[in-house]
Amino acid sequence: MRSFQYQRATDPNMAVQALSAAATATNPLTQATAQPLAGGTTLIDLMKLDVMRPAAIVDINPLSRSWSAIELNSDGLRLGALAKMSDVAAHAEIQRSYPVIANSLKLAASAQLRNMATLGGNVMQRTRCSYFRDISYENCNKRNPGSGCAAMDGFNRMHAVLGTSDQCIASYPGDFAQALIALDATVEITGKSGIRSMPFAELHKAPGNSPEIETTLQPGELISAFAVRGRWPRSVYLKTRDRQSYEFALSSAAVALDVQDGTIRDARVALGGVATVPWRAREAEALLKGRKFDDELARRVADAAFAEARGRRHNSFKIALGKRVVTHALQQAVTMEI
Ligand code: FAD
Ligand code: SF4
Repeated sequence: MRSFQYQRATDPNMAVQALSAAATATNPLTQATAQPLAGGTTLIDLMKLDVMRPAAIVDINPLSRSWSAIELNSDGLRLGALAKMSDVAAHAEIQRSYPVIANSLKLAASAQLRNMATLGGNVMQRTRCSYFRDISYENCNKRNPGSGCAAMDGFNRMHAVLGTSDQCIASYPGDFAQALIALDATVEITGKSGIRSMPFAELHKAPGNSPEIETTLQPGELISAFAVRGRWPRSVYLKTRDRQSYEFALSSAAVALDVQDGTIRDARVALGGVATVPWRAREAEALLKGRKFDDELARRVADAAFAEARGRRHNSFKIALGKRVVTHALQQAVTMEI
């Protein structure tokens, strides 16, 4: 690991100032020369691999007293960015009112990682593309812009079938983000000019021609919280993976429904493991609204969710698998007892 400066931020202003002072927007290896440190389960890993090389680390853990709160009220839910994955997954009221959130966290990583890792760090984690994580491969547009993409003609079984570009096909690896995007969550961002909020759906950027730019956060900005309006007790997170624990999704679906007298009034469908960013399947959702659920509708919804999918040599199986995951998640959501 390379040497770096370590700073402990004792208040949000100090964190923002330390990050802004060190940040330069265009360092391709790091997207910024300073990185916030939360649980460290991704950042330290990537620094050891020499994939990320920040000159400075700003430890934001001292902010956890104010940034780790889990708050439920009549408007909905607010989750501090430094809340631990395990605490949110185990929260009884979140399990009841937002099972899609609780399960997206419970099915991620391992118990030890979830005890350490934070919500903010989770949504900001970087791709698990093995060519990105191994610096012996020169050609990775995300790590080394303009160098090509080793995965395109390489072993691309884990890669994305939606939202890809001819520059990058890396899949977004997290689980929690799919629950957030399905529930129309907002993300609260703390920066030099104070606090701003935006739809969570605007946080991640598809690779396009600049896969090295992964989010819309500006240098020095930090995620301080997430918010969801209303309650979503009829919601499901379903994940398929190569083994039952400690593994990233091959395909997942976050589904949230509002069903009254057997008719679907509102429907949310998001996909994980198959896309370059947390993916909302809006065309699929539109088919559900105002309808009664049956197997034929489920099949049409699943087809619509993957209508734009493009498989490559090793990952085409994800299209058929993803459709089955969407179908099963919908069936579970419709039949669950609430
Ligand atoms: P850190 O490592 O501290 O930070 C991660 C990144 O986010 C860094 O770039 C950091 O600078 C930035 N950051 C942190 N906090 C903020 C903030 N508040 N604002 C802005 N930027 C911030 N995840 C899943 O979802 N599903 C899985 O199945 C899964 N399996 C895993 C298996 C293994 C073996 C490992 C090692 C990880 C796995 N993970 C999985 C990823 C794990 O969940 C993440 O490493 C973790 O959530 C990151 O959180 P952290 O607090 O440790 O972040
Ligand atoms: Fe790099 Fe993206 Fe290609 Fe992976 S898929 S090698 S991250 S450019």
